Amino acid sequence: MAKGKINVSVENIFPLIKKFLYSDHEIFLRELISNATDATLKLKHLTSIGEAKIEYGNPMIEIKVDKDKKQIRITDQGIGMTEDEVKKYINEVAFSGAEEFLDKYKDAGKDAGIIGHFGLGFYSAFMVAEKVEIITKSFKDEPAVHWVCDGSPEFTLKEAKKKDRGTEIVLHVAEDSTEFLEDSKIRELLTKYNKFMPIPIKFGMKTETLPKPEDAKEDDPAPTQEVDDIINNPAPAWTKKPADLKDEDYKSFYRELYPMQFEEPLFHIHLNVDYPFNLTGILYFPKLTNDLNIQKDRIQLYQNQVFVTDNVEGIVPEFLTMLRGVIDSPDIPLNVSRSYLQADGAVKKISSYITKKVADKLSSLFKSNREDFEQKWNDIKVVIEYGMLSEEKFFEKADKFALYPTVDGKFFTFEELQNKIKDNQTDKDEKLVVLYASDKESQHSYIEAAKAKGYEVLLMDSPIISHLMQKLETSKENLSFARVDADHLDNLIKKEDTAISKLSDEEKEKLKGEIEGVIQEKGYTIQMEAMDSSASPFIITEPEFMRRMKEMQQTGGGGGMFGMGNMPEMYNLIVNTNHELVGEILNTKTAKKRERLINQSLDLARLSKGLLKGEELTNFISRSYEMIK
Ligand code: ADP
Repeated sequence: MAKGKINVSVENIFPLIKKFLYSDHEIFLRELISNATDATLKLKHLTSIGEAKIEYGNPMIEIKVDKDKKQIRITDQGIGMTEDEVKKYINEVAFSGAEEFLDKYKDAGKDAGIIGHFGLGFYSAFMVAEKVEIITKSFKDEPAVHWVCDGSPEFTLKEAKKKDRGTEIVLHVAEDSTEFLEDSKIRELLTKYNKFMPIPIKFGMKTETLPKPEDAKEDDPAPTQEVDDIINNPAPAWTKKPADLKDEDYKSFYRELYPMQFEEPLFHIHLNVDYPFNLTGILYFPKLTNDLNIQKDRIQLYQNQVFVTDNVEGIVPEFLTMLRGVIDSPDIPLNVSRSYLQADGAVKKISSYITKKVADKLSSLFKSNREDFEQKWNDIKVVIEYGMLSEEKFFEKADKFALYPTVDGKFFTFEELQNKIKDNQTDKDEKLVVLYASDKESQHSYIEAAKAKGYEVLLMDSPIISHLMQKLETSKENLSFARVDADHLDNLIKKEDTAISKLSDEEKEKLKGEIEGVIQEKGYTIQMEAMDSSASPFIITEPEFMRRMKEMQQTGGGGGMFGMGNMPEMYNLIVNTNHELVGEILNTKTAKKRERLINQSLDLARLSKGLLKGEELTNFISRSYEMIK
């Protein structure tokens, strides 16, 4: 038997590792299974090129837990190690890796954003074990060896009796880590980290129901058999070629990823690139709920089919973190902090590649089946609008397929909308004003008024829409958005309107004075307009700019330039001088009756803008009952 001292400068490295990585102890299993997988894949490669003249067969990796003996065993049928290889790879490679890690982590540990889940390798076994044994037999014709180490730099190495090729790692679980001796815990970890690893992983046995034999009686129980319980799917969809997958395969993979999701994804995007970086994956557009904060099922990041994390911040552009699915790339550095990650060149390329792929997919869906795209628009618009706001490259592409629905359920692209409005304009160089509503119900009367004038009214109701409008207004020339109840509207109506005022200028002045006298303290700016006699007599509008700034303050950003102060309320009261009622007010003899008509009219105008609330509403209602009784 040989005894030796591992050549590390730190006397006892493991207590340190344990301390630094306290929350990540569970990754030991992932690391050891990764090694077992590598060893098996290496053997596969060597047999395929004829260097290992053995039968490869159907190797698997087996995990066993012995609670009484406090042991966890990980057995593979891979390449194995000779005595020299153990000395080299375990005593030198593995432990030098440990030292390197420790150096890095000591400094980086101060950076709270460090990605904890990264490749630690073999020595992570000591995070949960007080003693580790390796019993291994190489595929080469050499005797098996048995290595034992208790976490100090001392180890022993002797010949072993193991006959079959492969490696067995025995962990003697430490007192403070006995939670890992529970079957349920091991199963949980296997499902979390190893669900899609490429070599079958066995953990215990399970009962399988067989079909009943033909001659079985009605109430005979179906026969069962005990079979290996294989935890993983060694060939998950993202590792296959898109051409080999049907729509149903993508859907069933989605269910495999998110067993608790009952809603089907809207569509998927298969990522597959091998230059200048390696990346595969499948992203899904889920039906998003209105509550964007509930994002439990997130995109999962893998490296060579090993789960790393479901926090893809910095790797996937933020607007796409609302998607689901998998990305697998060995080219993402994980032993660095988040801030470093975001500055990393390869990661930037990955992020912009993903953005481009998503934009291309959306574009092709739009082109190939517009009707279907329109139907899905409501469920995907938040992602697209958010992307247009945050990524210039995405904006350029999405500008061609982003849709602007109307209150009547038609959908326009921006270009179509532009042409449509231009067609209606007499002066083609005039500023393009796009009318929109944010709520079909509460803005109903304004919508109807605009439609009666022949305007197309958009329905823009997503939470960040005011930011997007701001962005469109600055990136396109000569464009402005105006909500149907904004004061742009009266200008528009006036221009289009050929109505001649029925009141003389003196009469208008007089009436304006009367109205001002009654509602003065309410703070409305009064405008006299000659509109169609069928339009409302009194209309309240609000400056688009002010209202939108208020909204943007509520949804964050945008309004920042005005500090945190509240925007003042500013309303215009437009009086339609051609309306019969308005003429009647002017001609009313008694001041008391006139005042009553003005107040009642103002309240009706406020009611239709949703401004009448609380006590004022109550008073209005009782006053109205009085009037009709
Ligand atoms: P890494 O896997 O990153 O190289 P590790 O510390 O995990 O680092 O392992 C060091 C080396 O030990 C591996 O490169 C491999 O050569 C060898 N090794 C570890 N586990 C096994 C195993 N199960 N079968 C064969 N060789 C192994």
